[in-house]
Amino acid sequence: MSVQYKLSDKSTRFTESVIRGMTQLCLRYDAINLSQGTPAYQPPPEVKAAAIEAIQEGYNQYSITWGAPAFREAIAQKMTTFNSIPTDPNRNVTVTCGSTEGMLSSLLAIINPGDEIIIFEPFYENYGPDTIISGATPVYVALQESLSSDGTIHFTYDPAELQDAFSPNTKAIIINTPNNPLGKVFTMDELQQIADLCCEYDCLAITDEIYEHMIYDGKPHISIGSLPQMQERTITVSGLSKAYSMTGWRLGYVVAPEPLTDAIRKMHDFLTVGAPHPLQRAGVVALNLPPSYHQELVTKYDTNRKRLLTSLTEAGFQCHQPEGAYYIMTDITDFGFPDDTTFANWLVKEIGVGGVPGSSFYSRPHLGRTKFRFMFSMADDILAEAGERLMQIKTKI
Ligand code: PLP
Repeated sequence: MSVQYKLSDKSTRFTESVIRGMTQLCLRYDAINLSQGTPAYQPPPEVKAAAIEAIQEGYNQYSITWGAPAFREAIAQKMTTFNSIPTDPNRNVTVTCGSTEGMLSSLLAIINPGDEIIIFEPFYENYGPDTIISGATPVYVALQESLSSDGTIHFTYDPAELQDAFSPNTKAIIINTPNNPLGKVFTMDELQQIADLCCEYDCLAITDEIYEHMIYDGKPHISIGSLPQMQERTITVSGLSKAYSMTGWRLGYVVAPEPLTDAIRKMHDFLTVGAPHPLQRAGVVALNLPPSYHQELVTKYDTNRKRLLTSLTEAGFQCHQPEGAYYIMTDITDFGFPDDTTFANWLVKEIGVGGVPGSSFYSRPHLGRTKFRFMFSMADDILAEAGERLMQIKTKI
């Protein structure tokens, strides 16, 4: 007799990641995978050596659940200097298994039934399941194309729509800067507006800053938690995955005021116990690398950004120039496909390049039906080959 499994309602409310699905499709058709945002590079050699050494030296058991003291100390230092958020390693820092766990532990620590969370869309796909798992009610605010004073198109929200999204039930707003999938970097004016609303409605900001070191054209990274009135109202989530090309190490962290940190640490403890101890030791070496390390990495990414922007534009895509992170959001209207998913399948099978259908980043999929995301964290020769393949679109349509 076959077993009738009775799954939780929550587990049925979200599906497998669209991006992982695209990766499978790319593998099947031997396509260049510009869908999944995995870094093309390796962690710095001295950081890898420190991890090996930590294992040899015996750091192979649990660390303190909320993070090894030396790693928390290095995080607090970095947060105080780079992010301008005065941080106490003992009171404000929780080391998590990637920022992914940091975001979920944070939501689990603050959400009660009926609490609303404001999310800008398009959004990083984890935020959808995060709200379901934590029981939050999401309220979405669109980031839409708008003409800047310098004639370029950028994404921003309608201030009236944002104001309307806030209510007495709002517990927090999630910000992601630099943003995935748009590459948008929130400006001081925008963050100030959001901060004012957080104060008016007595709610929190949860900010995902995993791409904080990846910003182009000299733009600054601003942490909303550094604004004076926001220090007591901000949960900052970040990690080492992208800045040090170590997504497999699962090193993330959450910085928050002490009462919030206490609650986040409890959630974190019973979800995962702790992040890998020897890798936290090596994380100290990473966080102590000089600023020139980040400058060199961002220069490499900037070269990739320019190369893919040129290839996509020549191939007929309308591109939004990203200000940060390593994604390019494009518009595919001109190709005349019925929707983004049909285009995604065609591009893999006929052209040999994979990307992500824009609708998968929206709660209201119709907002993304003409959009398509590529990522540019790829070796030079593979990006060049992708460019050549993309040039065939015009002849094959
Ligand atoms: N946040 C954003 C916006 C991301 O794009 C990603 C990964 O792509 C993550 C978080 C995941 O980071 P981590 O490896 O620290 O869990």
